[in-house]
Amino acid sequence: MYLGKTTFICRSCGNKFKAPAYEWCATVFIAPQPCPKCASMRTRPVGLIPPLEDAKYKRIWEANSK
Ligand SMILES: [Zn+2]
Repeated sequence: MYLGKTTFICRSCGNKFKAPAYEWCATVFIAPQPCPKCASMRTRPVGLIPPLEDAKYKRIWEANSK
């Protein structure tokens, strides 16, 4: 499901960028979008609680890298 434009942050290089947000595998998570600067997939939407978000998205990043 398309959720509109969201600001993402890249956890590899710290770049912030806007990209279209989609549900990740029909969950409450937003699918990571590739960083336009370094092409890393270790990205997540900004905002909310950063340490908590990193812990949750770590699983998605690991699933994506397989
Ligand atoms: Zn990056």
